[in-house]
Amino acid sequence: KSDGIVLTKQKAEKVVGWARNHYLSSTDLPSIKGDRLIIPRESLEIAIERLKGQGITTKKSSQNLKVLAICTSTVSHGAVVPPNEIGVKFDDIGALEDVKRTLDELVTLPMRRPELFSHGNLLRPCKGVLLFGPPGTGKTLLAKALATEAGANFISITGSTLTSKWFGDAEKLTKALFSFASRLAPVIIFVDEVDSLLGARGGAFEHEATRRMRNEFMAAWDGLRSKESQRILILGATNRPFDLDDAVIRRLPRRIYVDLPDAQNRLKILKILLAKEKLESGFKFDELANATEGYSGSDLKNLCVAAAYRPVHELLEEEKKGRVSNENSYLRPLKLDDFIQAKAKVSSSVSYDATSMNELRKWNEQYGEGG
Ligand code: ADP
Repeated sequence: KSDGIVLTKQKAEKVVGWARNHYLSSTDLPSIKGDRLIIPRESLEIAIERLKGQGITTKKSSQNLKVLAICTSTVSHGAVVPPNEIGVKFDDIGALEDVKRTLDELVTLPMRRPELFSHGNLLRPCKGVLLFGPPGTGKTLLAKALATEAGANFISITGSTLTSKWFGDAEKLTKALFSFASRLAPVIIFVDEVDSLLGARGGAFEHEATRRMRNEFMAAWDGLRSKESQRILILGATNRPFDLDDAVIRRLPRRIYVDLPDAQNRLKILKILLAKEKLESGFKFDELANATEGYSGSDLKNLCVAAAYRPVHELLEEEKKGRVSNENSYLRPLKLDDFIQAKAKVSSSVSYDATSMNELRKWNEQYGEGG
C-alpha cells in the first residue's frame, strides 16, 4: 500500500520530524520502519519537494507512482486545522443567530450524524454554501466556528493558495487539494474571496492556467458532490457575489446573507468583544450600540481596541510625568467616553459605500436567503 524511498536514518528522521509539524496527526504520517522510511503515496511528492529544499535528493523505489502533490502551500502554511485547534465557537460570535441556526442544520447535523442523511431521497447533506455580505461581518469567523461545531477539519484557501507559488501546477494542486481533503473528511474547505478564485470568466484576458485550474476545481467539486457519503463541504465567502457566474452559484445552492448588524445586534457583539475587559460600573452598552450605526463586527472590534488603548496611554503619560511609579500603576476601567473618542479614529468602513450595499441587497433578493 505504501511506497518507500530510500534514505539514511538520520535524513529520514528529519523528514518525519518535519511531517509531524505539518501534517495532521493522521495515519498518513511518514514513519520509520527498520531502515526504511515509509511515506504514504499521497504524501510522497510533498516530501520529495521538502527534501529537495534541504538538499537531499531521493530515488523513488517505484517508477509508476501515482504522485500527488498535496497542496504544498496549504499544508506547509498550516492552513489545515483540526477542529479542536480552531479556537472559535458559535458562542464567540455575537448576533447572527439565524445564520448560525441555518448553518447548524445544514452542516453540523449531517457532519455529526451522517446516518440520518443516508436513507431516503429528501434529506441530502449540503455540499456547497455561500456566505456573502459586506466585509468584516464575521464570515470567516462563522466558517471557523462552524468547523468547530461540526467537528470538521478546516482547510482555508484563497485564489493565491492555488495559483501564486505554483502557478503552472495550479491544476495539479487543485486535484490534490480535493484528494487530500477527501482523506481528511469530515472537512470544511473554506474558500475566502470565492469571487477571485472562481469569479466570472475573465474573457479574452483570462490566463490559460487560471481557466484550467478553475475547470479542474469545478470538475473535482462535481466529483465530490456526486458522492453522497463524503462529508466534505465547500464553504465560499465573498463581498462580491454579483461577480460569480451561474456555474458557481449553482454549485453553492445555499446562499446566506451575512448583513451588517443593527443596534440590537451591535449590542450583542459589543458584549462579546468586551466580555473580559474592565468596564466602568453601569457601562452603557446600549448607548454605544446606538452610536455605532453602520459599523461591522470588525469595525466594532477595531473600535474596542482603540478605546482600550486610551487608559494605557494615559497611564504612560502619568508615568512619564513622574506622577505614578511603575509599581503602583493602575489601569482605570474603560468608560463610554473612551469609545466615543476612539470613534474619531475608527469609523465604519462599509456604510459609506451605499452602491455596494444596494448591489448586495439586490443580489440577496434574487439569489440569497436570510438577512
Ligand atoms: P469577514 O470574513 O466577513 O470579512 P471576519 O470574520 O474576518 O469578517 O471578521 C473580522 C473580525 O471582526 C473577526 O475576527 C472578529 O474579531 C470581528 N467580528 C466580526 N463579526 C463579529 C461578530 N458577529 N461577533 C464577534 N466578532 C466579530
